[in-house]
Amino acid sequence: MNTSRIPGFYNMTVEERRELLMDMHTFTEEEKAHFFSGEALPAETADKMIENVIGTFPLPLGLGLNFLINGKEYKVPMAVEEPSVVASASYIAKMVREAGGFTTEATERVMIGQIQIVGSPDIQAAKEALLNEKESLIEDANAAYPSLVARGGGAEDLEVRILNEASDSPYGQMIVLHLYINTCDAMGANIINTMVESLAPTVEKLTSGKVYLRILSNYADKCLARARCVIPPALLESEGFTGEEVRDGVVHAFEFAASDPYRAVTHNKGIMNGIDPIVIATGNDWRAVEAGAHAYAARSGRYSSMTTWSTDEAGNLVGELELPMSVGTVGGAIRVHPMAKIAHSILDVESARELAQVIVSVGLAQNLGALKALVTDGIQKGHMALHSRSVAIAAGANGEMIDIIAEQLIKAKEIRVGKAKELVENHTK
Ligand code: NDP
Repeated sequence: MNTSRIPGFYNMTVEERRELLMDMHTFTEEEKAHFFSGEALPAETADKMIENVIGTFPLPLGLGLNFLINGKEYKVPMAVEEPSVVASASYIAKMVREAGGFTTEATERVMIGQIQIVGSPDIQAAKEALLNEKESLIEDANAAYPSLVARGGGAEDLEVRILNEASDSPYGQMIVLHLYINTCDAMGANIINTMVESLAPTVEKLTSGKVYLRILSNYADKCLARARCVIPPALLESEGFTGEEVRDGVVHAFEFAASDPYRAVTHNKGIMNGIDPIVIATGNDWRAVEAGAHAYAARSGRYSSMTTWSTDEAGNLVGELELPMSVGTVGGAIRVHPMAKIAHSILDVESARELAQVIVSVGLAQNLGALKALVTDGIQKGHMALHSRSVAIAAGANGEMIDIIAEQLIKAKEIRVGKAKELVENHTK
């Protein structure tokens, strides 16, 4: 039974939720042990992952529910510390599934490796020399990673760019070779770096220049994923607001973000509220995804909204999100971190392309969740109610007291640590 609609999941205990997942998915004995032990990452494993380890730093792992993407059900593991993110994603996913679900697509997984060449005596001749040897350079790069080629990937193309050609440029001229590599199901940073490093001696010979940097570009604009949803206004109706009012408010909110970087940054932060948690939970490099996403939002030359929201001829709200998505289902920490393995079992994606499409769907849902709240009640009403438990804990509440204090804070309409401290003191008197 692989459904992502689990009514009542919110009201279950953590233990009940885990038991339910055990019935729905097949986990290895090792995964089960980790899942129930509460020890997400053993210190010995952590000590092999990074340097100078002194402990681990767990985050809550929740499930975004109700996601229907290209007709397939997804329960989305989300590792995040911010209240209301998981609830909001699940709420919007439910609305979108009633409208038929998300439709998504992704380009081939072509990543970019860069080689910087400085000091060639004749920069145009050097560029030509590289292009003349294109086929053999691609062959050499592939020889450095034959296992990737055997999987159907590898270096596929090459381009040469000249930077700072203008005579008034404050920086020196240089050649940059771009190697386009299909990294299959890996994010590919190490694969790419190995390939471009292997080419450096040949590139220096061909250009009579000096190679400095040899590294992937995190601006993965040839590794894109897109998500789309179309929502009839009736589904957008909210207490005190017609569906049309909400729809128009969302479109105006998008226009604000598209016109103003001050708003766009916050708008896009809300999108990354959905994207980062799944990228983290699946053991992927969220800094790489963040860097690429924000650069893509500025591809017109001005930082703007990552999403677009419009109205179609039938009056439906149409949302779209396209982003570079350099994630993998293998490599890096993915098969090392026990919770990442569990997250992959729950998510049940077959490829990195599929994972990328789920991620942009969650980003799109998160954006609509925030915009819908902003154009109706404002964000604080729902957010602060969910935040009240964190406030209660910060004020010293524990055990059953947490929910009692949280409720009192909501009733008093004062969700502040100062107020919570007062309530905790009264409670313990
Ligand atoms: P890995 O170095 O772990 O390489 C992935 C490995 O997975 C491949 O070498 C391949 O090994 C194996 N593999 C198994 N199945 C497949 C498949 N279907 N498709 C592709 N590979 C497969 O990881 P990445 O190269 O992806 O690098 C990601 C890591 O690099 C992340 O941890 C990231 O943080 C880090 N990093 C990021 C940088 C950046 O973003 N700027 C810079 C440097 C590092 P084999 O072929 O031998 O079986």
